[in-house]
Amino acid sequence: MPVYRGRIAPSPTGFLHLGHARTFWITQERARQAGGSLVLRVEDIDGPRCRPEFNHALIEDLRWFGFEWQEGPDCGGPFAPYLQSERRGRHLDGLERLRASGWIYPCQCSRRDLLDAPRAPHAEDEEPIYPGHCRPKEASFVAPEGDFHWRFRVPEGEEMRFTDGALGLQTAVAGVDFGDFVVWRRDGVPAYQLAVVLDDAAMGITEVVRGSDLLVSTFRQLLLYRALGLTPPEFYHTALLTDPVTGLRLAKRHAALSLGQLRASGNSPETLRSSWACPKNGL
Ligand code: GLU
Repeated sequence: MPVYRGRIAPSPTGFLHLGHARTFWITQERARQAGGSLVLRVEDIDGPRCRPEFNHALIEDLRWFGFEWQEGPDCGGPFAPYLQSERRGRHLDGLERLRASGWIYPCQCSRRDLLDAPRAPHAEDEEPIYPGHCRPKEASFVAPEGDFHWRFRVPEGEEMRFTDGALGLQTAVAGVDFGDFVVWRRDGVPAYQLAVVLDDAAMGITEVVRGSDLLVSTFRQLLLYRALGLTPPEFYHTALLTDPVTGLRLAKRHAALSLGQLRASGNSPETLRSSWACPKNGL
């Protein structure tokens, strides 16, 4: 059995909130229980949305809350760099492998999913199924003039399954539950789906722990692992923390529940963690 390696992979597109802390805490607990290690990888490929003030706050907030990682941008490690934006060469290699083996095709459509490709599609950000305008009929095609994105061709109708560590058997049908997805944007930015797969594989992550709103993305990523000839990690999807008033998923826009605000108003990490013990939000 390989030694357990978990990761927390925040994007500095806003301040971390209690929902992140809870998912990350479960990640850390699972790494501890398995006697393994925890990696901090900062996923900062989403250009203008990633801001330096969020980057600075991130490490401070995580440390204050009680997180301890063995590898990360602040402490280095054998799989550096741990800032995703510095792993571009590896992402380009992965793109080239997908291109050479015919898994992707150029797409000139301009849609919202292209703009949002660098970030993880949490719940309400899930993209509509691509109608296939640019999908070539033949495996061989001539790349169009001008700029284009690269889109992954999903095996339509394939029934996929995996066993989630928390939720048990999960199933989806490619082309029905999700469609061809962007792996590289025309302005040269890798999509979340490709970057996360390449980095998790290169860093030897054995289990990915994250919110259950990314379940559909896990199926996309399993297709990428297969296309790239990489072994996928185990997956463990956690229930999401919701806003006590609206019942909606906590997001970075819930400033009042940001770790920084909670600290400033005198909360201790222990007290915050004990709130998770109630059945509704329980670990
Ligand atoms: N950077 C992504 C996010 O913050 C990570 C998602 C994942 O854990 O795969 O949503």
